[in-house]
Amino acid sequence: MNSSTSGQMIIKGISGSPGICIGKAYIVDREGVNITKRYPVSDALVPKEIDRFKQAVSKAKKEYAKVIDSLDEDIGETLNILETHMVLFKDKMLYGKTLDTISKEKINAEWALRKVSRRVKAMFQQIDDKYLQSRVNDIVQVSDKIMSYLVGAQDIKISDINKRVIIVAHDLSPADASQIQLERIKGFVTDRGGKDSHTSIVAKSLNIPSVLGLGKATTSVKNDDILIVDGSSGTLIINPDEDTLFKYEERLARFEAYRAGLERESHLPAITKDGIFLNLMANIELVEEVVAAKDYGAKAIGLFRTEFLYLDLKRFPTEDELLCKYKELVELMNPQSVTIRTLDINGDKVNPYLTTIEEANPSLGLRAVRFCLEHEDVFITQLKAIFRAAAFGNIKLLIPMISCVEEIIQVKQVINKAILELEHEDKIFNKDIPLGIMIEVPSAVIIAEHLAEHVDFFSIGTNDLIQYSMAIDRRNRQVAHLYQALNPSVLKMIKMTYDAAKKKGIELVMCGEMAGDPINIPVLVGMGLTNLSMNSASIPAVKRLIRDLDTKKAKRSVKKIMTLNRVQEIMDLISKEYKGILPFRETDD
Ligand code: PEP
Ligand code: MG
Repeated sequence: MNSSTSGQMIIKGISGSPGICIGKAYIVDREGVNITKRYPVSDALVPKEIDRFKQAVSKAKKEYAKVIDSLDEDIGETLNILETHMVLFKDKMLYGKTLDTISKEKINAEWALRKVSRRVKAMFQQIDDKYLQSRVNDIVQVSDKIMSYLVGAQDIKISDINKRVIIVAHDLSPADASQIQLERIKGFVTDRGGKDSHTSIVAKSLNIPSVLGLGKATTSVKNDDILIVDGSSGTLIINPDEDTLFKYEERLARFEAYRAGLERESHLPAITKDGIFLNLMANIELVEEVVAAKDYGAKAIGLFRTEFLYLDLKRFPTEDELLCKYKELVELMNPQSVTIRTLDINGDKVNPYLTTIEEANPSLGLRAVRFCLEHEDVFITQLKAIFRAAAFGNIKLLIPMISCVEEIIQVKQVINKAILELEHEDKIFNKDIPLGIMIEVPSAVIIAEHLAEHVDFFSIGTNDLIQYSMAIDRRNRQVAHLYQALNPSVLKMIKMTYDAAKKKGIELVMCGEMAGDPINIPVLVGMGLTNLSMNSASIPAVKRLIRDLDTKKAKRSVKKIMTLNRVQEIMDLISKEYKGILPFRETDD
């Protein structure tokens, strides 16, 4: 519930990554520039409002002029677009009408601009002319640019922020989030985003608190407001009163002490009270995360998400560029294994250069292995780099989003082509590496026994498995409450996958976020899973819990849990039976 007392405002969202931070707000929003408030201005203040609008236009124009100056002559198309925008800044329909609206309706410049740009947009859209319709985009961009100067939120590059602040954004893409400089950014909050979205995964790996899906953070917060971000309970407090501030400062100190304690123990083994060893591994997105993963006590890299390199480069990397990164990674981890997952692009990890088609449902579209099979050259380049890197260390190859047997057979054919090319080119490589698939689509669970005939290991990707089995967009805050790892349907699918892997004698790993949340650990251990890969920052807490766990008791709990049919009953049972050993969660809930 949202509440406001003595000027402080509390907004509830979704926990993106745990922890608490207190600091000043810094709005970096782009889309958020469209959501602004309407307020009346008195006759005396109308000229000031007009002046504010003119200033914003002139600043936006100056910015464009600078960009145009810096462009090469031969960059024709971009230049054309920017020059069109320069004209539109002073266009009668947008500029003139906004000035009119401020004077006639006596409203603030933001609202006048919003009103006018919407009207112009609607008008263009009605014209039966493809070219003119496409101009709508230009109008939106120009008016967004002016708006960004009006609200003081001009397109700020996250990597350029040089103050210790808390980022407030309408949305942050995983690529944006990965630009965050840890020494400067204390945490972040967004209007959009759901549980286990890729943005929250990046936040967890950065180990900074975040709250997502707040709905109206960008409209409620102003630059320099004091914020408290409680990532554990998914709460944002704006301009806290003194009591609240004091309470959270104390909480922050306790949280930091708790975390430091966990980190001190991170080198201890993950062994249960009755002597069962668990293999705890790290999920990483960037090679640079290896040091942190080792510090947190990861025994191997259980998932290397390779797409971030492609997103950052904004073009397809070459085989040698990829080899260089993969080699560095496997050498850093040697002799421990590194599971390299092939490109899982699209879904929520999109970049315009990677795909030219518009998809109504990207998560159900040309994502991951589907994209790779369609773009064989891109796939072969990556596979060749992986086999070459395998000559320098211990690599496992993992294919995402397999949904049928035909796909894995096709993948194997492309693998053979890649190997043939490497042989012809006389390159040094190692093709004898385990091949695994992600089990993250319900159909793969159902045919797991058939799929097991073709591969050496399974890795359960619960982030997508929950999304696809329960039909919940993992980025959508409206349905985030339904996104439940402990839903009986999800638990049954994990059990089915475990049984299939066991029957066929192949290795089973879980690498979805579910494996990193302590509340799920008694269930996973009780089911018999021993290979868990997670955000490295989650490893110390999971390790501590495992050291307090008895597998025989966990098995008994799972027996009972599998008879329950509601998530709350399952959560209550775990909370009751493991009360003393589950990490202490300090919230007001
Ligand atoms: C998953 O789906 O659980 C997974 C690990 O992959 P990603 O989060 O990258 O989709
Ligand atoms: Mg996935």
